[in-house]
Amino acid sequence: MSLSVMTLSSSSSGNAVLVTGNGRSILIDCGIPVKRLKDGLETAGIKLNDVEGILLTHEHDDHIRTAAVVSENYGIPVYGERRTLAAVKARTNLKGGFYFSGMKPFMLAGMEIRPFPTPHDAVCPVGYSISAGDKRYVQATDIGWFSPEVESAMRGADIVLIESNHDIDMLLNGKYPPYLKERILSRQGHLSNGSCSEAVLKILDSGTRNIILGHLSEHNNTVALAYETTLEATGKRGAVPGRDYLLAVADARKPGRGVEV
Ligand SMILES: [Zn+2]
Ligand SMILES: [Zn+2]
Repeated sequence: MSLSVMTLSSSSSGNAVLVTGNGRSILIDCGIPVKRLKDGLETAGIKLNDVEGILLTHEHDDHIRTAAVVSENYGIPVYGERRTLAAVKARTNLKGGFYFSGMKPFMLAGMEIRPFPTPHDAVCPVGYSISAGDKRYVQATDIGWFSPEVESAMRGADIVLIESNHDIDMLLNGKYPPYLKERILSRQGHLSNGSCSEAVLKILDSGTRNIILGHLSEHNNTVALAYETTLEATGKRGAVPGRDYLLAVADARKPGRGVEV
């Protein structure tokens, strides 16, 4: 049994994450141009035709932009919460697809998919807990805070992808209009580096040893700031990346390193 995860792109410019369990692959979100999607998959040795499904987290553009065209042209079914799927259909040419409601688990490509609610300003945003045999991956980006639902979904997972969206000072001193700053900082917005680092401490305490920071803002964050904020917090506890756990940062616009358990 093996489970691997590779971010193909992770930021407000577009999101797509490849999850492969026992040789069968799915995508979480589909918000990047088809060429970049194909190139990214190629680095993992996978063809777009081999992808067995696309799970959508919520209807924001950066997560769904190419879902309709990829689904149509490559015959890949799209899965999403009922209201999310309806919202995506209202915004794009997406046809068909499969919906779930009530956060009920289901099977896809031999993996068990457990959606859970996330705090964000969309109709019904979710994160996913994905199991292949005894290995489990949990992803939650676009979260205003580290809610009890997110925390409980992540507890004890083998690999976690969590948002480390912005540095609060960069955001406050940056060029975004006040309403946007307020939205990002709200409990329905995005997780700051500081809040992420506190969440990572809890995630490490639960036994998780592979952590990927993702959905970094390209305007209000840097890879170094996100990495160092969490590094410093975990360092105070005596946890050293590379020795005690893996800490990776997803690239905003290109494939990140693959993590396999
Ligand atoms: Zn997003
Ligand atoms: Zn969003």
